[in-house]
Amino acid sequence: MANLELDDRGVIVACPSCGQKNRVVYERLSAPFRCGRCKRELSPPSEPVEIGGAADFDRVIANASVPVVVDYWAPWCGPCRMVAPELQKVAARQAGRFLVVKVNTEALPDLGERFNVRSIPTLAVFAQGREVARTAGARPAADIEAFIDQAIHAHH
Ligand SMILES: [Zn+2]
Repeated sequence: MANLELDDRGVIVACPSCGQKNRVVYERLSAPFRCGRCKRELSPPSEPVEIGGAADFDRVIANASVPVVVDYWAPWCGPCRMVAPELQKVAARQAGRFLVVKVNTEALPDLGERFNVRSIPTLAVFAQGREVARTAGARPAADIEAFIDQAIHAHH
């Protein structure tokens, strides 16, 4: 599956049937939708999205209709490489419930500083525009899902 991209208004999902790039606006990340060209039904974003810059990050956090799970990572970090496939599983299993995004703290040090990320990997959960929980260290997908569920339920 092609990697997901972001633009000013949403997540760009390439259709696996025809290749058409479809925008899923941030306000409607929880619902399945139809490809604009071939009309196949597509699932909401189902893999982690790499954040390209602070403006992208701020737009996602402010506008996403589902909680956003942020993975702060860096290329040199061994445990980050261990957690990456676990986050792939979480993103696939929880498509439409959460959006998983990745922040490369080496490429985007300003975000790491703004959120006071002291160790990586750090996972943070944002709901309705603000951070509601974070945890540090690698863990399996089921533990990540439990952490996210607990964070969201505690927030509501
Ligand atoms: Zn299509």
